[in-house]
Amino acid sequence: MSLEVAVIGGGIGGLSAALQLLKAGLDVRVYEQAPRITEIGAGLQISPNASRLLHRLGLKEAMDAVGVRPRAVHQRRWDDGKTLQRAPLGPEVEAQFGAPYYHFHRADLANLLAAAVPQERLHVGHKLVNLEQRGERVTARFENGASTEVDLLIGADGIHSRVRTIIFGPEQPRFTGCVVWRGMVPAERIAHLDIEVASHNWMGPGGHCVHYWVSAKRSMNVVCCVEHGNWTAESWTDRGEVADVLRRYEGWHPIVRGLIAAFPETYIWALHDRAELPRWTDGHVTLLGDACHPMLPMMAQGAAQSIEDGAALASLLKAMPDDVPGALKRYEMVRKPRATRLQEVSAANRTRFHLPDGPEQQARDLQMAASGDRSLANIGWLYQHDAAVVQ
Ligand SMILES: Cc1cc2nc3c(=O)[nH]c(=O)nc-3n(C[C@H](O)[C@H](O)[C@H](O)COP(=O)(O)OP(=O)(O)OC[C@H]3O[C@@H](n4cnc5c(N)ncnc54)[C@H](O)[C@@H]3O)c2cc1C
Repeated sequence: MSLEVAVIGGGIGGLSAALQLLKAGLDVRVYEQAPRITEIGAGLQISPNASRLLHRLGLKEAMDAVGVRPRAVHQRRWDDGKTLQRAPLGPEVEAQFGAPYYHFHRADLANLLAAAVPQERLHVGHKLVNLEQRGERVTARFENGASTEVDLLIGADGIHSRVRTIIFGPEQPRFTGCVVWRGMVPAERIAHLDIEVASHNWMGPGGHCVHYWVSAKRSMNVVCCVEHGNWTAESWTDRGEVADVLRRYEGWHPIVRGLIAAFPETYIWALHDRAELPRWTDGHVTLLGDACHPMLPMMAQGAAQSIEDGAALASLLKAMPDDVPGALKRYEMVRKPRATRLQEVSAANRTRFHLPDGPEQQARDLQMAASGDRSLANIGWLYQHDAAVVQ
């Protein structure tokens, strides 16, 4: 009989884990608190270390239909637009790492993942409120009165994970001091800016701005991240004022300001993270994605790492179906160092991207130009990794 698994949370991490576990022959069900699978109006970069795992699930055609394949990543100075570093992301990356780099609208990716999960296995409107472990079995209880009993429960329920709180106790995420304004700009509003199909990162004192095309190039996703300090709300649906964003980006390059001025609306979001969690697993319960390793977005790896978590779990549970705690222990051992490294690199990039004009910034620019942290050689450790290959 195959293992019965409950995945709590139908975000990118939970859905992709469910698909990978189903492919490994497990009896998986997903429980999502929202009344339907939704994602916010923002973008998501999916690098080859994650896209190769999704391609293996037979999703390549669906991904190609809505994803955009950028040619390059272009890091630029905030005011004069000088190129600090330009590294390939297109065919060179695919040739070197065996899978493409994509830009998605989050809803497009969430929808294609949800469509691939057999609908009878997707239980929306199920908010987990409690769980109990007894012997080899775990009972999950939901706010709507339903419950289920399984061999393994996976908390893929995001940075405010209820599963994490239940197994390890309460601990608040940390406000990082950064806020982001985001905008989704229709292509026709910015045709005059003639923006290349690439990932663009503008770096300046106390802030940066990232933008790229999504939804088959119909929209430009723009994320403006600044050191702020006094906005701590973490709702993707809090409206901001475009005038405030323009004021904060006073003196920045006309392309950055032109994009902001074209925002149909903007939303503001405070960035939170958490310190490394000592353990991810307790008996027959484990965590994945933001539930155990939330990270700042400065490596664009949070969702990619959650997809990797699902691949490692699927491989290990397939290989060790009779020893769930052993497989979970191994999962934590192989995944934690990599996720922690990415938490650290992302946090370090926050400082690097936001340096004030001056000697430190000049040293960073020289280093970027000389060795290029996104060059194929320097990024191999991240993109080459195959998370499904674990023993
Ligand atoms: C500005 C910004 C830009 C980013 N850009 C990138 C990028 O380009 N590339 C990248 O890889 N990552 C990026 N990330 C990170 C990425 O968004 C997250 O790491 C990723 O979405 C985490 O996925 P998840 O499935 O673990 O959690 P979530 O997306 O938070 O999903 C958790 C799900 O669980 C559900 N849930 C919560 N509690 C319960 C409960 N009690 N019961 C049932 N369901 C529950 C929620 O409703 C939700 O659907 C970015 C993040 C930010 C803030």
